[in-house]
Amino acid sequence: MNLVFMGIQGSGKGLQAELLAKRYGFEHFDLGSELRERVKKDTPFGRMVETYIKDGNLVPDEEIIAFINKKIDDNIKGLVLDGFPRTIAQAKFIVDKIPVKHIVYFSLDDQTATNRLASRRICSQCKTGYNLLVKPPKVPNVCDVCGGKVVIRHDDHAPAIKRRISKFHELTEPIIDFFKEGDKLITINAAQSPEMIHKELVGKLKLTS
Ligand code: ADP
Repeated sequence: MNLVFMGIQGSGKGLQAELLAKRYGFEHFDLGSELRERVKKDTPFGRMVETYIKDGNLVPDEEIIAFINKKIDDNIKGLVLDGFPRTIAQAKFIVDKIPVKHIVYFSLDDQTATNRLASRRICSQCKTGYNLLVKPPKVPNVCDVCGGKVVIRHDDHAPAIKRRISKFHELTEPIIDFFKEGDKLITINAAQSPEMIHKELVGKLKLTS
């Protein structure tokens, strides 16, 4: 089955996608990471993407939909889509192109989301995620996994965080209503610990534990 994970920045959907993928063999497609990889490669596409990402804006729909179209083949199964769709146009693309079993919405208030983002860190080498509040690296600024330098993401500075959250309410939240019709939408309380969220998710998806 294919799943779509949606939620405000900081809701922890990326971590949950990773946990689910590891435990049940889903493929985790993290659009934000894919785009950051393109930025690093310094191609015309990467440079275009960077102009949007660094300020916390969304990359235009035409570019994103063309990118996804190339990445996803017709025989996909067992995919967790993380970070797509984020606009109604992208949601319509999904409905037309990809059979989705459930849309999972990780619900979280703005204040908690902002606090989490401000303390989020990432390994500059292997991309392992950390949070100074709940999951700090064992040695400050050093990745537990690969020893790489643990840094702040370029778009986790205050003005970009504010813009991303406002874009979420303006452009992404309406999709929740778009998907409410039918019985595909599952809502998860993302204010809990990662372990509790995972448990609720597995239960609501009716996966065997
Ligand atoms: P977050 O969800 O915390 O904003 P992501 O890593 O998922 O972080 O995405 C980082 C950035 O990548 C977004 O702020 C946006 O610029 C771009 N991006 C990711 N997904 C999309 C999308 N579906 N449509 C347009 N831009 C996107």
